[in-house]
Amino acid sequence: MLTRSISVLFKLSLWLLALLCCLQANAKPVFKVLVTVDWEGYSLEAENIAQMQSFRQQFPEIPMVQLLNPVYFVRDQVNISHIQQAIQSTLLPNDVQGLHLHAWKSLLDYCHVPFQQHPSFAPDNDACKLKKDCGYTVSLELAYSQQDLRRLLACSQQLMVEHGFEKPKYFRAGGWQGGPKLTAALIANHFVWDSSIIAADLLITRWHVDSPLIRMLKDLHPEATPLDQPYEVNPQLIEYPNNAALADYTTTAQIVALFKGLLDHDRDVMVLGFHQETAVDYLPRLSAAIPKMQAVAQDRGIELRWVTE
Ligand SMILES: [Zn+2]
Repeated sequence: MLTRSISVLFKLSLWLLALLCCLQANAKPVFKVLVTVDWEGYSLEAENIAQMQSFRQQFPEIPMVQLLNPVYFVRDQVNISHIQQAIQSTLLPNDVQGLHLHAWKSLLDYCHVPFQQHPSFAPDNDACKLKKDCGYTVSLELAYSQQDLRRLLACSQQLMVEHGFEKPKYFRAGGWQGGPKLTAALIANHFVWDSSIIAADLLITRWHVDSPLIRMLKDLHPEATPLDQPYEVNPQLIEYPNNAALADYTTTAQIVALFKGLLDHDRDVMVLGFHQETAVDYLPRLSAAIPKMQAVAQDRGIELRWVTE
């Protein structure tokens, strides 16, 4: 009797094992897509906020990596609760909250970091005295010391928390101006995710090949390509290269082509996104790309998974 029971149990285990193997064999390969949002610190115009809200209603299952900017809060005579409401109205519970910093003078002054005017990745930085704010195009990596960057990051994290947001641990540098000093400052402030690396060639749809931005990026990230995948910078910090740029630089067809290029090369992570400040113009490109990407994934037997890491 005992022998018979053991035999039945043995057969049952074999059958379960076979079922498990079969299920695994039928599991589709997973391809992950991260939608990132760069908040530039320029403006919070109603039409851009509304565009984001409508995208969230259309695709509630797609989470976003919200790379927020604390500079909106520190300028003179701003309506803090209006700013908080505008940002919050675009967020969903499955988003993660990070930082996107440009070297705005008002933020540096607030954080007691001495403002630097150079080097700059675009020539709109020569009128600090004439403008309400300036510094948007100054390179964080090239203009500031590691110590200053560390202070700026800590102060910016604190500002977000003080205004009711999560302590940011995700990051992208303005103008993708990431490098060794900024990386060390991110680690010192316990960031876990960075996306400051981009292949400069992804931006030549709008920037001249000899422009300061393209030349600086080729120096900062000489090895970067649109096929780059996430990698560990150290046990704490993972780099997620912005391997599909932002929608300002890519048409819908180009987004789909970048996706197919990644699939063709057996890559399984795509990092794309858009700017809040130009959402009304460029977010529709992403909205149109999503069903096309889903169709490609279905054709190729891939499971498309929208994630934040
Ligand atoms: Zn930016």
